[in-house]
Amino acid sequence: MKKALFFVALFIAALVAIRVLTRSSVIPAALSMTGAASQAPVYAPHPYYSRTDTARLALPDSVWKKVLPAEVYDVARQGKTERPFSGKYWNSEMTGAYYCAACGNALFRSDAKFSASCGWPSFFQPLRHTSLSYRTDLSYGMVRTEVLCGRCGAHLGHLFEDGPPPSGKRYCMNSIVLDFEPSEAQR
Ligand SMILES: [Zn+2]
Repeated sequence: MKKALFFVALFIAALVAIRVLTRSSVIPAALSMTGAASQAPVYAPHPYYSRTDTARLALPDSVWKKVLPAEVYDVARQGKTERPFSGKYWNSEMTGAYYCAACGNALFRSDAKFSASCGWPSFFQPLRHTSLSYRTDLSYGMVRTEVLCGRCGAHLGHLFEDGPPPSGKRYCMNSIVLDFEPSEAQR
């Protein structure tokens, strides 16, 4: 009988010990998860997306096709153009920053945006000189400068020389390939 009581006591002690050990290991894990979540990127729809990594991305279209929404892929990788006055940023006056919707690269600040009344969001200068890259576009019988994302090479729009001072440039972009992040004051 005494032996049975001893084993019952031992069993209870073991249960208590397991509880204590489990708690002490679970609580720090939960805390660290919360910490990680608060430092996570604001928006990261796929593994190649980053708003801080500026290293060039050279991914084949087959990868982009898998990770981008079809309407973003059509413009970013197929060079299509959204209809004027159809995108969500052409007349936006919100304060914040615009990022490449394909890869997260920082492209423009809202203080470089101007009302071009052309139906597409227009800027007079990029955020950094490495934000964008350029190539000559001879399509539709015109000679135009195509604007590409400086990190992933996504087609963003075209550059024209009829913008306002001080640059005289008009970076005419497709809303669908832009991600907008409002400034703290507007959240
Ligand atoms: Zn990009």
